Amino acid sequence: MSKKGLQQKIMYTLSTGLLACTFAFTPVVATPVAHANSGTLNTIAQIFGAGAQIKAQYDAVKSQMIAWSNNVAEQEKIVQETVNANGLDNNLEHNERVTRVLNQLIENGNYVLKPNQLPFRWRVVNSEEWNASCYPNDYIVVNSKLVEDLQNDDALAMVMSHEMIHGLHQHVANDSAKQVLYKYGAALLTMKADYIQSVLGGFIANYVTVKNTTNVSEGDADESGFYLLTSAGFNPGGAPVEAIHMVNLGDSRDVISDFFAPKNHPASATRFKRLEKQMEEYGYNHAKVKNGTNVYIDDKILLVAHESRQLKDWEKAYLIAGGISKGIHDNKHFMDWNFNDATQDFLTDDKAYVELKEAIRSQNLYNTFQEMIRNSYNLDTTNSDNIKTKNKLIKEEEKRNSKLEKQREEIIQDKNYSKKNYNKHFEEYNKLGLRKLALKEAQKSYDLEPDYISAGNLARAYYSFNVDYERAHGEDNFDSSIAQKSIDYSLEALSKAPEDDKKWLIGNLAYYYYQAKDVVNAEKTANEYAQKYPNYARSQALLGSVAHLKGNDKDAVQKFAAAVSKGYVIDDNNEIPQSLVERIKNTTVTTDEFYSQNE
Ligand SMILES: [Zn+2]
Repeated sequence: MSKKGLQQKIMYTLSTGLLACTFAFTPVVATPVAHANSGTLNTIAQIFGAGAQIKAQYDAVKSQMIAWSNNVAEQEKIVQETVNANGLDNNLEHNERVTRVLNQLIENGNYVLKPNQLPFRWRVVNSEEWNASCYPNDYIVVNSKLVEDLQNDDALAMVMSHEMIHGLHQHVANDSAKQVLYKYGAALLTMKADYIQSVLGGFIANYVTVKNTTNVSEGDADESGFYLLTSAGFNPGGAPVEAIHMVNLGDSRDVISDFFAPKNHPASATRFKRLEKQMEEYGYNHAKVKNGTNVYIDDKILLVAHESRQLKDWEKAYLIAGGISKGIHDNKHFMDWNFNDATQDFLTDDKAYVELKEAIRSQNLYNTFQEMIRNSYNLDTTNSDNIKTKNKLIKEEEKRNSKLEKQREEIIQDKNYSKKNYNKHFEEYNKLGLRKLALKEAQKSYDLEPDYISAGNLARAYYSFNVDYERAHGEDNFDSSIAQKSIDYSLEALSKAPEDDKKWLIGNLAYYYYQAKDVVNAEKTANEYAQKYPNYARSQALLGSVAHLKGNDKDAVQKFAAAVSKGYVIDDNNEIPQSLVERIKNTTVTTDEFYSQNE
């Protein structure tokens, strides 16, 4: 089969089966292809004895999946489908929490969204199943049950960052390409088209509901998700707290005994152990939780956590230990903790320290705690084991950060490709009326290089905000500072554009003046535009807009009618004032009327 034929088959399976990485349900036993590396591909190639062909198929499946994921309309479709299937969670607080947490991760987190990836979108839907999932097109769907269960934002953030990593690392594309090839391999080359459709469709459906990703990807989503979580400023204790919820969704006492003697949930228990270790290592192994509720610093007990109205004692313990880990990680020296003996305060007002500070205050541990922290910093400069551990962990963190830095450089180096994607996303989101997403993508393109296209797109993005606003609140209602941004970016675009492309830009600029109610400049620019392009329908419409702005609606109707006779279409998306639409329609001569008047 040709590469194109194979791609068409794959596209079919993609449109019939929804692919998502879910959170809670992961395969306990790794599949033979779980260990993702080139060795695996060689193994597959050996099985089917067709090395180059298999590699070509793998590339075709993967690139097709990534192309599918990079499509705004498909993303919107999945948003609608999941919402229609379950209904939105009506609890506004749930939606606000998820949005607050995701925005903090997206805005403050250290991660790289590739240019061929869409910005994250999300919905909270009604479902009693404790789960969340991320579609390959960066749409995260969160079930109401999960939000209800995770009362702490840091724990909720761990689920969200785990899902973001599935999207960021393109796990579905990588894993499903391997799975499809492993299962069908060279057979794909000889199967009949309709047969392959049903086989692959069934395979994908099964893959979605049972084995969404490989264990390796799940491990990556947890591990990298933890670093994303902490880089965004969340309490690292949120990670083990979330994992305990997952180990046992029932009584918390069972949770504690369960993860110390894991029997029924080996996968979840393993995930908990890993995340707990990551939390400890984040603070260079000084702070630990033992027996579920006892918080230790450097193997000496600091306190026993107590439950509060909102949080269980074990949740508190991990958030307290997590706060200490964050404090040690983020502050190079003991002095940076700002212990204030007069107020008995320390560190900052960061939300991540709330549980720690509350426990120290309520248990009267200020002096003890200060000495223990002083000792931790002393150990890191005097004890050889501590020095070694800290150096190793810092090196690992630097390595992770430089890897991300390298990815950022690649986006800059591959500037044309990156900008092409951002501009495409801008157009598609703008078409859907998703203005904020459109603006963000236009801004990314402009930030990479402020050329006339991206400056022009930014002007359009801001203009659209005001058009929407006027549509909702009536004509003449607009934000003048946003209108000014449209004008400024438009002038910048005009100053950079080649002569051929100025046509659109001058027309747009006149509309931006018009929107800003700047009569003098609107008229001046509209006349300049109409003189340059007299036969262009839009130039007549523009003159109509200016006449309307000057209060001369009779003239406006005539100009708009002239524009319509030149092919300008009256619809919801152009600049014709709603109040004039009927009069323009009555004034416009149709082609039929033209002949009946002349014969
Ligand atoms: Zn997952």
